[in-house]
Amino acid sequence: MSVTVVGSIAFDAVTTPFGSRERMLGGSAVHFALAASFFDTVHVVGPVGDDFDEEEYEVLRARGVDTRDIEHVAGRTFFWRGEYSWDLSTRQTLDTQLGVFAGFEPRLSDESRGAELVFLANIQPQLQRQVRAQCTAARFVALDSMNLWIETERPALIEALGGVDCLMLNDSELRELTREPNLIRAARQIHGWGPSVVVAKRGEFGAAMVTREGFFALPAFPLETVLDPTGAGDCFAGGFMGYLGAHSGHEINHELLSQAMAYGTALASFNVEEFGVQRVAALTTDEIAERVAELGGMTRLTAKPLALRG
Ligand code: AMP
Repeated sequence: MSVTVVGSIAFDAVTTPFGSRERMLGGSAVHFALAASFFDTVHVVGPVGDDFDEEEYEVLRARGVDTRDIEHVAGRTFFWRGEYSWDLSTRQTLDTQLGVFAGFEPRLSDESRGAELVFLANIQPQLQRQVRAQCTAARFVALDSMNLWIETERPALIEALGGVDCLMLNDSELRELTREPNLIRAARQIHGWGPSVVVAKRGEFGAAMVTREGFFALPAFPLETVLDPTGAGDCFAGGFMGYLGAHSGHEINHELLSQAMAYGTALASFNVEEFGVQRVAALTTDEIAERVAELGGMTRLTAKPLALRG
């Protein structure tokens, strides 16, 4: 199988309590692609500007990511600036410059169109729809978004959801999108819009999944050092979709999706240990296996049925 992703390809300026960086390779598609590259072939779709150099391509190519559908357009690459609070639990967007994304018309190669898995990472809903429409071989499509698009393009976003199997959003954004404070009810509403799988990302508290078959949740992997949470959600999605991609021929059901959550959790945890893509770009397969095993150990429920007092 292979995975196609459309999303931002960006330069990020990030300030956290532990330091700041003025210009790092980032973007939702880049974080996703690096994480998913440990499982499957990844095709990245999106535009970059004149300021995007060989050095940036090399980070993706070194992980075997297919960059043929990264289109060079005159102008500047997407730019995002954000700042995190002292405990990293909230962040403020200080600047978003769409640059070459404004007016971008995706035209996918046969390789990208042929992917069985598609991730519509955070970008304008209209672009997500255009890419979805071209991916005619898709077996499972997931979509991520953010408050900016919920607030400025809610109808287009809800329309885009009609063509996808899975919605991944931050907990608070799920409530904002559905205007429903209860997570389970919010998920049921989304099931009614199309996606049969809803994943609520909860930052340091992990992630919860509501499918039509049931509920599953995992805590975040406990870490003593967290430097930069930027891209954690996309790395979660990369591990999650990558795991599905590595199970070609398997039915994508609640159980497989729950297993995929573990890989999503592991990849997200590595991402936050360093600024930008630094940690995931240099990760090893042994480190991933070890972390998933550790996560399994700390989440196994061993409580036995007990004769309770009536
Ligand atoms: P996350 O921390 O998972 O929400 O992802 C952060 C990444 O999303 C950063 O690398 C940014 O470049 C990118 N990003 C921020 N705002 C937007 C936006 N409005 N549209 C697309 N990508 C964005």
